[in-house]
Amino acid sequence: MPNVILVVEDEPTIRELLGFTLQRAGFEALEAESAEAALKTLHQTNPNLAIVDWMLPGMSGIDLAYRLRQDRLLSSLPIIMLTAKGEEQDKLRSFESGVDDYVTKPFSPRELIARVNALLRRSGEGERTTISASGIVLDVGEHRININGEPEHFGPTEYRLLAFLMAHPERVFDREQLLNRVWGRSIYVDDRTVDVHVLRIRKILKKHKLDGLIQTVRGVGYRFSVGSDASVNSK
Ligand code: CA
Repeated sequence: MPNVILVVEDEPTIRELLGFTLQRAGFEALEAESAEAALKTLHQTNPNLAIVDWMLPGMSGIDLAYRLRQDRLLSSLPIIMLTAKGEEQDKLRSFESGVDDYVTKPFSPRELIARVNALLRRSGEGERTTISASGIVLDVGEHRININGEPEHFGPTEYRLLAFLMAHPERVFDREQLLNRVWGRSIYVDDRTVDVHVLRIRKILKKHKLDGLIQTVRGVGYRFSVGSDASVNSK
């Protein structure tokens, strides 16, 4: 499967050039024209790396990077910042906000691809982010779930839903919140969709007698709860 790169750039010509350059180098490119659009895409897909322009209308590239670092599901996403500014001060600031590398515009496509490959290699060697609770180990980067040491197959939506709930343990989410955060606002689905996917997750968890971890809170929604005797941790 090709590595998926998310491009966040408001200028259409540069965005298209980036998409084209990445595709020619064998990557799959996803494009977003703003940080807000990127956040929606990130809740629906799981790219391997993001190239983010510094100057964006609305939320800036720096603010986007900062936000991603605070998000348990997305905090390990490697980020390359595109900047037209060359000042050391700005570069320093972008590293502080959790950017892994930067490329100054105008960039050479070859250099950019080399940077992307280097960062992918680097991040692949680094520690992988996992979220675990009660024998469920969710590998965020790899989209894999092991339960009691056994690999279990979850569909992409079930994976995202379970990952989201596990990343926010003991918190109740109503169906609309889950639709917004897991499915993304742009997709039209009705509230029952959430129930259908929760059912599918419970069915898999039930094999391990863990279906009680996803609790229905009557009249509100769902929560992932390990109770008082177990612990949820991430590393
Ligand atoms: Ca821009």
